[in-house]
Amino acid sequence: MSLDEIKISRAILSRFMTKFSDCLELDVAIVGAGPSGLMAALRLAQKGHKVAVFERKLSIGGGMWGGGMMFNEIVVQEQGAAILKDLGISVEDAGDGYYTADSVECTSTLTSLACKAGARIFNLMTVEDVMVRENRVTGLVINWSAVDIAGFHVDPLAVRAEYVVESTGHDTEVLRVVRKKTGERLLTDTGEIMGERSMWAEVAENTTLENTKEAFPGVFVAGMAANATFGSFRMGPIFGGMLLSGERVAELIDERLTG
Ligand SMILES: Cc1cc2nc3c(=O)[nH]c(=O)nc-3n(C[C@H](O)[C@H](O)[C@H](O)COP(=O)(O)OP(=O)(O)OC[C@H]3O[C@@H](n4cnc5c(N)ncnc54)[C@H](O)[C@@H]3O)c2cc1C
Repeated sequence: MSLDEIKISRAILSRFMTKFSDCLELDVAIVGAGPSGLMAALRLAQKGHKVAVFERKLSIGGGMWGGGMMFNEIVVQEQGAAILKDLGISVEDAGDGYYTADSVECTSTLTSLACKAGARIFNLMTVEDVMVRENRVTGLVINWSAVDIAGFHVDPLAVRAEYVVESTGHDTEVLRVVRKKTGERLLTDTGEIMGERSMWAEVAENTTLENTKEAFPGVFVAGMAANATFGSFRMGPIFGGMLLSGERVAELIDERLTG
């Protein structure tokens, strides 16, 4: 069979346009493909919801690839280990209730399972703003990351969603823009993003789950962004809280969508 470059190009364009166009109206739009965002995407897709993830970078996985300080192993506790095993990821017992897993296997398996469950992942797209109607976030405003990086003067496109998951990690980029542009209070004690505190793994793992909740009408926060939003601690390279937070946000949104 001869290869025709134009047919290759046309296949990419037409397939991408179909996929992207199908995702302009979603049940759930997830911002950030770190462990919490990927886990949320997997569980929401498994529940039959129409879900897409928008990730700024070329690579999917956020901070999980690098383990701790580029030693590419992650640590989880019992509950996290149970999730990883359930996903078919190899887990090693490190004693005293600690377990380790290869961060590359974790990231690639989670990504693959989310895609196979039906979640669409769009890399190289940056969420720069949100759509708001009557004090509720109703969607995302997105642009190519290359446009953002180059500082080009190019207008974005929009995606409508019943719910948005803010899983952008430390930077809490979605809620930052919501607070700035609406001028409305977030659902935190101060009404502001309260900011992440220094490292305290034990407390941070628990509060990640407690802080996984709606932080503005239409926006649920998960992962490190949850602790940054509600003023809790960072936890370093222990990832069970991220996975549990992704599961939790999927449950909360599923209740809203089906309740
Ligand atoms: C570069 C980096 C450095 C980190 N350093 C540390 C550290 O030193 N100590 C520590 O405790 N934790 C650190 N973390 C976080 C740590 O890896 C986590 O505990 C874990 O990865 C957090 O998972 P998460 O799902 O909350 O988000 P993350 O793994 O942080 O993933 C968030 C994802 O959101 C994407 N994103 C952000 N803004 C946008 C946007 N506007 N549009 C689209 N996508 C967006 C990012 O590219 C990233 O892939 C770091 C994370 C990253 C990405």
